[in-house]
Amino acid sequence: MLENIVIVGAGQAAVQAIDTLRRRGFTGSLTVVGDEPWLPYQRPPLSKKYLAGEAGRERLLLRPQQFYGQHSVEVRSGRRVEEISRREQRVRLDDGSTLAYDALLLATGARPRPLEVPGANLEGVHALRTLADADRIRAGLSAGARLVIVGGGYVGLEVAATARHLGVTVTVLEMADRVMGRVTCPAVSALYEAEHARHGVSILRNIRVRALAARNDGRVRAVLTEDGGEHPADIVLIGVGVLPVAELAAAAGLACDNGVVVDEYCRTSDPAIYAAGDCANHPSPHYGRRLRLESVDNAFEQGTSAALNLLGMTTAHDKVPWFWSDQYDLKLVIVGIGQGYDSLVLRGDPASRAFSACYLRAGELIALDSINTPKDQMAARRLIAARARPDPDRLADPGSALKDVC
Ligand SMILES: Cc1cc2nc3c(=O)[nH]c(=O)nc-3n(C[C@H](O)[C@H](O)[C@H](O)COP(=O)(O)OP(=O)(O)OC[C@H]3O[C@@H](n4cnc5c(N)ncnc54)[C@H](O)[C@@H]3O)c2cc1C
Repeated sequence: MLENIVIVGAGQAAVQAIDTLRRRGFTGSLTVVGDEPWLPYQRPPLSKKYLAGEAGRERLLLRPQQFYGQHSVEVRSGRRVEEISRREQRVRLDDGSTLAYDALLLATGARPRPLEVPGANLEGVHALRTLADADRIRAGLSAGARLVIVGGGYVGLEVAATARHLGVTVTVLEMADRVMGRVTCPAVSALYEAEHARHGVSILRNIRVRALAARNDGRVRAVLTEDGGEHPADIVLIGVGVLPVAELAAAAGLACDNGVVVDEYCRTSDPAIYAAGDCANHPSPHYGRRLRLESVDNAFEQGTSAALNLLGMTTAHDKVPWFWSDQYDLKLVIVGIGQGYDSLVLRGDPASRAFSACYLRAGELIALDSINTPKDQMAARRLIAARARPDPDRLADPGSALKDVC
């Protein structure tokens, strides 16, 4: 019987685990240690409403302060776990204190991937992961400022949309031949490129950054590209993806490979230690391979599964993942994992700004990108989970309800 659970990292996965543990009757000691100075908060608004100044800090909190007191959860904010001693079942914090555990949950998330070029640390160059990052970026987004974004992934593009709304001049530099190429098909990329162009964002593709140049006072002045280009900037956002935070686990001798390796029960190579969320590399029975996902849904579902398994309620984590991105008035929801698809069916005309891209492999629907088509994304979750093999002609007809196409 567990008496003492410690959670490292105070983000989405941690809160979901806390909530599940208490709801399902765990009455022992529960401590969460997070190295940011705030109570756990949501990150998605950091590139959207919060950055736009349309949502205050209190709206970001995943749970109000009183939740933690009411559920007897000790929150150690602003404290970093520096070491896990597996033999003694203790963690050491950066203030020298230690916490004993019967079970440990690693929910350490991810951090921005650094851009390895000269000048990447100049003043005015930012990454976006935390509330503090968002505040620093927001301070530089005054109307007329010139923002250069390195990376046309979803975070870069969401910031581009928000910055245009604030009257900022925006250039996006993408090294691939299309934006969001890692997660969507060419038709979806093309729609987003057109939409950003329509809002005045300049997107340059097939372009690599070689350095960032400074002004005399040491602040960033321009982004220099390998084609000899110089892109003047008052502020730069580096949005080239994230890396899992797994050093703590690796130093403790846990199996790590693109994150902390867990089994379908969120258990690491040490049976007393679990991991969930962006840091966890987990098997997906549905897709037949390992995945490390970076989404609220995944953190929520794995946080729940980890907690249930901690309590002995054996629960395999095997959900069809989904992810959303809001840019302008386009609501993109990606259901499933489209990588490895061998045919693509579009439902509806991209020009209508409401359509779905359906990804199939050997006739099975494996993923769907829904753009302003909420009914499709709801139906897609069920169809993908059921390994549906839809009729391609009916699938392509937006007049047939997706739920009826098999
Ligand atoms: C700008 C932005 C926009 C996003 N938009 C979307 C979106 O629209 N839709 C979507 O699905 N997802 C979105 N995401 C991704 C989503 O926010 C993450 O997938 C989710 O937050 C992952 O939760 P987590 O609990 O795994 O990790 P995190 O939320 O990263 O929390 C981990 C916490 O652990 C802390 N930590 C790490 N190591 C230690 C240590 N040793 N000691 C103490 N604390 C430690 C970290 O500092 C962090 O506070 C967005 C992310 C960002 C940054």
